[in-house]
Amino acid sequence: MLLSEYSADLHIHTCLSPCASLDLSPRKIIERAKSESLDIIAITDHNTAKNVRVVMRLGEKQGVKVIPGMEVQTREEIHLLTLFADGSSIAAWDEEVRRYLPDVRNDPEVFGDQPIVDEEGTIIRFEERLLLNSLDLSLEDVKQRVERHGGLAIPSHFDKSSFSLISQLGFIPPDMELEALEMSRRSEFREQGRILDASLRLPRIVSSDAHRLEDIGSARTIFLLADASLKELRLAFRGQEGRQIVKKMDSGLTLL
Ligand SMILES: [Zn+2]
Ligand SMILES: [Zn+2]
Repeated sequence: MLLSEYSADLHIHTCLSPCASLDLSPRKIIERAKSESLDIIAITDHNTAKNVRVVMRLGEKQGVKVIPGMEVQTREEIHLLTLFADGSSIAAWDEEVRRYLPDVRNDPEVFGDQPIVDEEGTIIRFEERLLLNSLDLSLEDVKQRVERHGGLAIPSHFDKSSFSLISQLGFIPPDMELEALEMSRRSEFREQGRILDASLRLPRIVSSDAHRLEDIGSARTIFLLADASLKELRLAFRGQEGRQIVKKMDSGLTLL
């Protein structure tokens, strides 16, 4: 099996996330991914996947692999990147998540608009339920449910000062069998030995957490894979069959 390097940014929001720029249309995201020489991107809006399919279709035409995903907020206010193999799994997950998202209306004046768009970014309709909320599901619950859909759950910015494993729990649950952690780009906790030691036992990635077009690709993880797929990413996290994480880059610098 021939392995080669794939440059991946696995945490990108679209205009549907109320806190993200309205500029983040499917076409602009794919254009930016190409100009940044990204081979793989994941679309991860807060608690929804309603803009994922359109980015996947466009990516397919343009030669950028789009991993369907979602950034979920658990009951403990921990953010998790949830990544799936295909469009039907993410659709099933999206439907499931909806049942656990509080039925609170978005106030666009306060939180921002939540547009569901076509390829060009033309608004089809607005998501009216507020997406910036915690699901009525625990961390453990989310992980198990994601795995039932064949997906991967990776704590987002695990060492950030809010909405992270460390900010909410203060530790990395040792019995959770996490496949990987996403490092935050500017960590207040990274230097703390105890947390660093525990996190070093797990594979770590870094991604942009893009909320603006120009963020895309500014942080990325380089993988050695046979092809651009979730299956291959999982092998790389496990260090199996030669697949591996080659390096992590933030703003052009290589991270440890
Ligand atoms: Zn987050
Ligand atoms: Zn995010």
